[in-house]
Parts: sequence; C-alpha cells; structure tokens
Amino acid sequence: MNRQRHQNAFVKNPWDLPLPGYVAKTLRSLEQAGYEAYVVGGCVRDTLMGKEPDDWDVCTSALPKEIVSCFGARKTIPTGMKHGTVTVLIDGQSVEVTTYRIDGDYLDGRHPSEVAFTRSLSEDLKRRDFTMNAVAYCPSAGLVDVCGGRADIAAGLIRCVGDPRRRFEEDALRILRALRFKAVLGFTLEEETAAAVRGCRGLLKQISKERIQAELSKLVMGDHADSVLGSFHEVLEVCAPGIIDVSKRVSVERLPKDLTVRLAVLFPVETRAALRALKYDNHTVRQADRIARLLADRPAPRTGRKEILCLLRDEGREITRLYFAAAETMTKGCGPSGAAALKELLQEDPCYSLKQLAVSGGDLIRLGMRPGPAVGQLLDEMLTLVIDGQLENSSGSLLDYVKKRGVL
Ligand code: ATP
Ligand code: MG
Repeated sequence: MNRQRHQNAFVKNPWDLPLPGYVAKTLRSLEQAGYEAYVVGGCVRDTLMGKEPDDWDVCTSALPKEIVSCFGARKTIPTGMKHGTVTVLIDGQSVEVTTYRIDGDYLDGRHPSEVAFTRSLSEDLKRRDFTMNAVAYCPSAGLVDVCGGRADIAAGLIRCVGDPRRRFEEDALRILRALRFKAVLGFTLEEETAAAVRGCRGLLKQISKERIQAELSKLVMGDHADSVLGSFHEVLEVCAPGIIDVSKRVSVERLPKDLTVRLAVLFPVETRAALRALKYDNHTVRQADRIARLLADRPAPRTGRKEILCLLRDEGREITRLYFAAAETMTKGCGPSGAAALKELLQEDPCYSLKQLAVSGGDLIRLGMRPGPAVGQLLDEMLTLVIDGQLENSSGSLLDYVKKRGVL
C-alpha cells in the first residue's frame, strides 16, 4: 500500500507512542503480509493525551478474509465480518481489527444503508465522528491526522469531522457522544458542533434505548459531568426523559463514583420507570430506585446507632453506604455526617441481619421448634431486640430469651 498519499497529514512523531506488545505484534503481522495496519480512534486519542486506553482498535487495508488468513482461523473470531471486524486473539489478549471502510448513505439517522470497504486510510478516518477520534498511528509510519485531530486534542476541542449537522443527521447518537466525551474528557464543544448538538437534538428520539443507555452511563460517570448536565439539559431530556437539571442543586461529579447513585440523583421522580425505559438491568434499576427513595424521604440522614442498624437491616450495606455518601454531598456536608457514623459503627462489626444472629433457624429447629413461619417470626423479633440494644447477640442470651418466650 502506498503511504505517500498521507504524507501531508503525517505529523512526524517527536516521540514514539507506546503500544502494548500484543498490539504491536498485530500491526506487524498485517504489515508483513503486505497490508497497512494502524491503531485508530479513541486509543490514539488517549495515548496522545498521556492516558492509558481501555482497549485498542486496529484498522487495516486488509479485507476481512485477508485478516483471517494473516492470523489463521484458530486465532480469529469473525465478530462482524459484514462490517469488516475480526477479533484477533494474540498473547492471551484480544484486538478488534477492522477493514478500512466508508459508510454509505444513512437513510434513517441510525444505520448506514451499506458499508463499503476501501483501501484508503484517509477515507476511513473521514467517516469517523470527531477529529480527536480520526487519528491513526503505527510505528513504521507515525501519526496520520488528516482532520486536524492532534491540534484539537491539544486545544481540548470536540469538533465534528465535516459539517456537524450532516454528521448528526447521519447518526444522531453522535450528538450524545459529543456530550459524553465532554463529560469524560473535560473538553469544550467547538462552536458549530455545539450549535448543531442543540439544533439537532430532536433526532435523538430515533436512537435505540440501548445505545442511549451506553453513552448516558459513561456521561454521568464522567469527571466533568456537571457542566454537561447543566448546560445541555434540554438535549439530554430528549433521549432520557425525566432527567433533571441538577446543576443548581448538586454536583454530580462530587457524588460517589457509582452509576446507581448518580442515576438516583438525576432521576429522582419515578426512577424505576425512567430507568426501565432506558433498558437498564434489574439490579441497577432497583438499587437506583431505593437510593432515590431514601434521598427523597430523608435528605438529611438520621445518624443514631439504632437508625443506622435498621437501615442496614432493611437496605443492606451497599445501598446504605451509597445513600449516606450521596446525602452528604447533597447537603454539602451540613449536619451530622452519616457516612462517618456508618464507618465507625461498621468497625464494631455489629449485628443487623438474620445471617449475623448468633442463633439460626436450624438451631431453633434442632432444639425442638416446629419448622414453619413461627421460626422466622421469632428470629425477626430477636433481631429487632438486638438492634434495639435490649438483647445481646450471643447464643446464651438469645436462647435464654427463646426459653422465656416459651416456644421450645
Ligand atoms: P472510548 O474511550 O470510550 O472507548 P472511543 O473513541 O474508543 O472511546 P468507541 O465507541 O470505542 O469510542 O469507538 C471507537 C472509534 O470508532 C471512535 O474513536 C470513532 O473513531 C469511531 N466511532 C465510534 N462510534 C462512531 C459513530 N457513531 N460515528 C462515527 N464514528 C464512530
Ligand atoms: Mg473504544
């Protein structure tokens, strides 16, 4: 493949970007077979920013079948042959290798009508969403940056490749991706891109809830989420109905880095329905809903020993911990610290659940109690007394109580 074509776009690297061994090996195998191969997109962006990427994507001039023949059928998984993606297994790791492609017309704002493969890296880069994501690198050729991504990364700018309105009309998810990258990276939206994000927001209605959910979750977990959640509330409302403008009330960035807490604060009303609509899994929906209810019922937590133990019994450790931490952020540290009181109490390893009670249902049955609902009722009764401080959690004191109650 002729690399001269990219010459003008080359930024001769003053340094070599660090690539993990298995990624370098993947590039080498493709190159040795006569193809071009580059790491591309988010991993190059992150590396240029001095961050370690989560995963590495490779793009190549090789067609899917050619990728498979470079690595052998045993080392490849045909992940999405139609879209040109093959997963290569190498040194116990996996790398997605995708043939350079051009997207055909987008008829519905979601899916390209067809995908065409190309042997041109520049064409592949130009179909990508933002200039910062349209960068490619390989050790033998350096950085390929046909859209000015490196300068935008340095300036902290999110800029669409090409005309923002057209790009959002092609795939409206890019609107939310722009906001997600802003929330995660702390970048600024370039002016025309920002105007198109607002202007095209209605298109987000066409996007599947699953795709929305994936981007929204990354957005709310971003270290720079506050400004997005505040300034772009009218955009987020289109794809995530029920989301509130928290900017004046609370800093989401300062909440615990937990998705369920952040969702609970962002969707305080009808949490369950709002999150179900976004296809969140049952655990996330339930946990966020519980936390939202606790925050609504008791914005300032009660920090007495008995109240905390009851909360631990009813909600479990995780929800209690998250609720206290969230309440503390939301009350801006005014009032007694539930989080500190919880921490102190947990250090004593107190009993707040049936599992921790020194006597079990099995013990009661072995001592002669008839199996049935009365066993559970008696255990609950004893747990309440232990939490109240009226009974010691030891088998001696609990069995004395059982005898006194005359149930054995
Ligand atoms: P992250 O660090 O979150 O993985 P990323 O930039 O790698 O960010 P991905 O969703 O993994 O994002 O996508 C990989 C690359 O594919 C992007 O960097 C971009 O070049 C391209 N891409 C992804 N989604 C789109 C899209 N909707 N439209 C155009 N290009 C896209
Ligand atoms: Mg990625």
